Amino acid sequence: MKVLISGAGIAGTTLAYWLKHQGFESTIVEAAPKLRTGGYIIDFWGAGFEIAERMGIIPEIMKRGDRIREVKVVNERGHRIAGFPVEAFSQIAQGRYVSLARGDLAASIFGTIEHDVEAIFGDSVDRIEQTESCLLASFKRTGVRYFDLLIGADGLHSRTRQPVFGPQSRFEKYLGFKVAAFELAG
Ligand SMILES: Cc1cc2nc3c(=O)[nH]c(=O)nc-3n(C[C@H](O)[C@H](O)[C@H](O)COP(=O)(O)OP(=O)(O)OC[C@H]3O[C@@H](n4cnc5c(N)ncnc54)[C@H](O)[C@@H]3O)c2cc1C
Repeated sequence: MKVLISGAGIAGTTLAYWLKHQGFESTIVEAAPKLRTGGYIIDFWGAGFEIAERMGIIPEIMKRGDRIREVKVVNERGHRIAGFPVEAFSQIAQGRYVSLARGDLAASIFGTIEHDVEAIFGDSVDRIEQTESCLLASFKRTGVRYFDLLIGADGLHSRTRQPVFGPQSRFEKYLGFKVAAFELAG
């Protein structure tokens, strides 16, 4: 079975890994010109940690990750006004806990499949058509290809979901919160 995965984030790369293990042939198409780096720091533990362990990538993830000591809320002069130690999370998770950039996690996973799975960067699925026997995917840049299955792993605002299940507004509920993130040297 030929599977097309849209998106080379954490979900898309993990899926490609496990499909390969089950003997499926998969192709990943990623809109970005290369594997995305950086991104928001995520706390990695629980089910995700266990899956990464089964994939044998924990040493790599620990190497790339950071051990955060404390989350601080600071005032306009940079003085701490509130916060909490992160060590408590690590203790609860019995050390099976690390913080790392979203892109670094995806890159660690991608490293396990890059020689076995076809990856197309800088392209995306423009149109899909279901026929009797297969699925026709028209790529923006590289033309039409046949697959048996298309899986949308293209994130929260999935473009794959839209033509099949309807507009984004049906699946997202704005809760009134906003987050701003930026990177600092070191
Ligand atoms: C501020 C913030 C904090 C978070 N903190 C945590 C945390 O502490 N712990 C935790 O577990 N999770 C956390 N998350 C959630 C976590 O980042 C997401 O659950 C995770 O990144 C989802 O992975 P994904 O692969 O589904 O999607 P994404 O990481 O969004 O990847 C989607 C990929 O698809 C690509 N793409 C998009 N559109 C197309 C297209 N049309 N065609 C082809 N490719 C496309 C994108 O370029 C991207 O590479 C946080 C998220 C945010 C925003």
